[in-house]
Amino acid sequence: MPNKILVTGGAGFLGSHLCDRLIRLGHHVLCADNLSTGAKQNIAQLVKHPGFEFIDHDITRPLKATVDQIYNLACPASPRIYQTDPLKTTKTAVIGAVNMLDLATKHECPILQASTSEIYGDPEVHPQPETYQGRVNPIGPRACYDEGKRCAESLFFDYHRQHGVEIKVARIFNTYGPKMMPGDGRVISNFISQALNQIPLTISGNGLQTRSFCYVDDMVDGLISLMNTPSHVTGPVNLGNPVEVSILDLAQKIIRLTKSTSQTIFSRLPVDDPQKRQPEITLAIQMLGWNPATPLQQGLEKTIQWFRTIQS
Ligand code: NAD
Ligand code: UDP
Repeated sequence: MPNKILVTGGAGFLGSHLCDRLIRLGHHVLCADNLSTGAKQNIAQLVKHPGFEFIDHDITRPLKATVDQIYNLACPASPRIYQTDPLKTTKTAVIGAVNMLDLATKHECPILQASTSEIYGDPEVHPQPETYQGRVNPIGPRACYDEGKRCAESLFFDYHRQHGVEIKVARIFNTYGPKMMPGDGRVISNFISQALNQIPLTISGNGLQTRSFCYVDDMVDGLISLMNTPSHVTGPVNLGNPVEVSILDLAQKIIRLTKSTSQTIFSRLPVDDPQKRQPEITLAIQMLGWNPATPLQQGLEKTIQWFRTIQS
């Protein structure tokens, strides 16, 4: 009997890929999303499937549903977007987590939290292992997201200790792929849209800051593996591709792969923008047998191809 799986944020970038995969694996999927940064278009191919159900729901309100597993992904992820309504971002991260944890408690089902590398803030330890406790500015413009996600992790562990809820905490590092919203402020969606439109790529700061980018299919593999670990496995587990690249190199790669005539322009680095980021993934390799398989160039090519199809 297939499981009934709730995916909050299932109409977003990562959530829609996860819903796709879960349906292909034969599960019933309940996708709950308020469509604030997600889109019906992302799940258009799923809505006719008998195993798929969409509900327009905001997770800051309690949800009544009978489910066997919960993936809690609902939360804006683009810094530009989550800073436009920081109070809502914190409420989604914190009150949303409480509501989904209450549901997991009621149905005695496992719940996976889409946590983030932002837990580490602007790190002094490099690469970042799960044991690193981070350097987050609690009062800066990124705090709504970073501290919201940190509080959510704390809630997950308290529900685990106090109510025995089976929790799985994934610390997701920068993930990219088809279905990112073009120009949503995140670096890969911005750069690809800019390159395809032959306009300058907007580099923040001097572009020497680094990130490590994971292709979405690899991330979905990691999330599903983590969800299906034995009940004592809680995480937190880093999930990301450890190949590190500077933002300047990324811009040049995207210009080359799109054969764009775009130049690069530089602007001020946003406040608290982390200088470097690279996941230490030994734990994921050992515990999940998971290792991201898609090289950056291959993932970028697939993503560019998708951006071309939606532009034409
Ligand atoms: P996204 O913005 O594309 O998707 C988020 C989804 O959540 C959207 O469909 C949005 O409409 C929905 N949503 C937002 N607030 C909601 C609310 N209050 N109630 C119901 N739905 C709501 O972002 P994404 O990249 O798909 O990220 C998914 C999750 O993964 C997020 O929790 C994010 O913090 C986490 N994450 C993503 C990355 C990444 O690089 N993509 C990195 C670290 C963590
Ligand atoms: N960035 C950039 N130009 C853009 C968008 C982002 O140079 O148009 C930079 C941003 O300042 C950061 C990096 O790219 O240093 C990654 O930004 P993103 O918003 O994608 O993710 P995050 O900062 O959350 O890792």
